[in-house]
Amino acid sequence: MIHNFNPGPAALPPDVIARAQAELADYHGCGMSVLEISHRSKEYEAINAAAEANLKALLGLGDDYRVLFMQGGASMQFALIPLNLLPAGATAEYIVTGTWGEKAYEEAQRVGAVRLLASTAADGYRSLPSIDAITPDPQAAYLHLTTNETIQGVQWPAELPDLGSVPLVADMSSDFLSRPFPAQRFALIYAGAQKNLGPAGVTVVVIRQDMIERGRKDLPVIMRYATFAKNNSLYNTPPVFAVYMVNLVLEWIKDQGGLAAMAERNARKAALVYAAIDGSDGFYSGHAVPAARSLMNVTFRLPTPELEKQFLNEAQAAGMVGLAGHRSVGGIRASLYNAVAPESAAALADFMQDFAKRHG
Ligand SMILES: *Cc1c(COP(=O)(O)O)cnc(C)c1O
Repeated sequence: MIHNFNPGPAALPPDVIARAQAELADYHGCGMSVLEISHRSKEYEAINAAAEANLKALLGLGDDYRVLFMQGGASMQFALIPLNLLPAGATAEYIVTGTWGEKAYEEAQRVGAVRLLASTAADGYRSLPSIDAITPDPQAAYLHLTTNETIQGVQWPAELPDLGSVPLVADMSSDFLSRPFPAQRFALIYAGAQKNLGPAGVTVVVIRQDMIERGRKDLPVIMRYATFAKNNSLYNTPPVFAVYMVNLVLEWIKDQGGLAAMAERNARKAALVYAAIDGSDGFYSGHAVPAARSLMNVTFRLPTPELEKQFLNEAQAAGMVGLAGHRSVGGIRASLYNAVAPESAAALADFMQDFAKRHG
């Protein structure tokens, strides 16, 4: 058995893969595969509508929100958000707690006026900024943050601190649907599907209606949220198969008991791996301070780079893949997204204990 700890593209639920396989050659009796049907067919329209409805149901959102299925990854949103929502004369604010937030902030600077409201760069992105030190400007066009920093393994709590009335925009690429959270507090949420939602190729944008209406109208139509909203994400050809897979994952989450069940499963998995770190007498050192630890991406170091290499090699030989830290930071990263089985987290924790015993 392979234990898949890939950071993204990442593990998908085996039930979802099996269902996609069973339906592949002949989608719902139409005689064609879902890879071959028109995006204007009634079959795809049903998939598209179900994906939006299922997502809104999981988040408890109503008619004042839309779900858009876009392309270009979360990285495209780094540009589209300021292009659409940051008009001349206005300022957007960014809280940066890791590499992805940094990228979003840098991209926005190319578009308009941005203010760095807080950053934890000085401590190597190990922590969350102290909220008392932050004063969001209520006049700001929006306030952007990254709920889970995938590379450093730093995560905000599901219930964010009070950040005032400014429209909140969140990159949730690596923890979207991993736990219940108050979605109504956000003006825009976006997530590349390939971490926690499905395969690569589609980016989910959850946007409040008033933000769609507020969007700049002098942009090329393909870059406007309003275009995707008005056309139900069918202005041009969408990534049909990726949206289909996202919908299967949404149905799987619902069948498992929804976001509360995901949160319980994810907390259990992360606890196993963090216990292996904390119980190792310092052999493993976690990157994030305990209060900022991510339940999705557990990042840690070993005493030497040589031991890290050996750890990765032995883990690989034991069927545990995808554990190398991001190339920019090194070390080890175990990504424990929704689809990663508790048995995989347990196997990793056992392996870590055994490895530490042999090398500590
Ligand atoms: C992976 C990731 C991105 C980049 O996603 P792409 O879809 O490759 O553009 C952005 N933000 C976060 C938090 C991520 O984890």
